[in-house]
Amino acid sequence: MKFTFKPFTLELKHVFTIATSSRSTTPVMLTQIEYEGVIGYGEASMPPYLGESHETVSKFLFKVDLSQFNDPFKMEEILDYVDGIEEKNTAAKAAVDIALHDLVGKLMGQPWYKVWGYDESKTPHTSFTIGIDTAEVVKQKVKEADPYSILKVKLGRETDKEMIETIRSVTNKPLVVDVNQGWTDKHFALDMIHWLNERGVKMVEQPMPKTQLDDMAWLTENSPLPTFADELLQRIPDVIKAQGIYSGINIKLMKCTGLREAHKMVNLAKSLDMQVMLGCMTETSCAISAISQLAPEADWADIDGNLLIGNDPFEGTLVVNGKLKLADAPGIGLTEVRI
Ligand code: MG
Repeated sequence: MKFTFKPFTLELKHVFTIATSSRSTTPVMLTQIEYEGVIGYGEASMPPYLGESHETVSKFLFKVDLSQFNDPFKMEEILDYVDGIEEKNTAAKAAVDIALHDLVGKLMGQPWYKVWGYDESKTPHTSFTIGIDTAEVVKQKVKEADPYSILKVKLGRETDKEMIETIRSVTNKPLVVDVNQGWTDKHFALDMIHWLNERGVKMVEQPMPKTQLDDMAWLTENSPLPTFADELLQRIPDVIKAQGIYSGINIKLMKCTGLREAHKMVNLAKSLDMQVMLGCMTETSCAISAISQLAPEADWADIDGNLLIGNDPFEGTLVVNGKLKLADAPGIGLTEVRI
């Protein structure tokens, strides 16, 4: 197997603001694994808060030697090896995992959702994120989000109520909110959730700092809306940590090292009676199509990272009338590659 990678920079359609930062580009690394003339495509996305960059991901990927493996179907062995190279670098590991899944799916001639036995008609609607901005820009973004049936709103600032009221002045669509750990007082958080519940909000992501586990357990127990762990959660052991503290988990390929672990996390969360949300970073349609292979099993999807960029080199999973539409193409379901 031959493994190659190259850096790429995603240009965002809008400056993107969350509770802790703003940015207009995102670095990604595009990967390929070639075997007997078949190419699998992968990607690492590195938003700054993950602590990875072109440099750190390159450094990791230079250590990946896939020439020692002759059989791409030995995925567990190959990905155990990749996972063991360094402790962290989860996005870099995902870039190898996604390319390997794409390759093996293509060798089988099937998309992964079919290999896993999922019904593609059961994909959820995806939310579309409206970043924090001035009232005028927010109203404009809501208008542009017309094709999407659920809007995700970034909260966690002093202007939270104004932000919701601005959106409610132009749409009645269901909302989900992501507080990005922005509320530090549990009573304030519960008051906010009641207020949001009355305004058509359906769920709350990471309302409090990930370290405040007791406060968070209390909040989930008293909350009229389901709560989801995001910043708290990276890999399989964190699912156990979130049990009893959050209603569900937000799984992202760049945090959990890729599809192999994401698939296991979906199964584990469901066996623990927790809800499953699938999320993403700002990513191309490569990583987006990869995570959407799991979408038929998800209660919530926030898989809009490719919709926020202006220079997507791939095409695969689409959003049709707000709902994720999986392509029938093998592997991770890419229908077009322009690199
Ligand atoms: Mg989040």
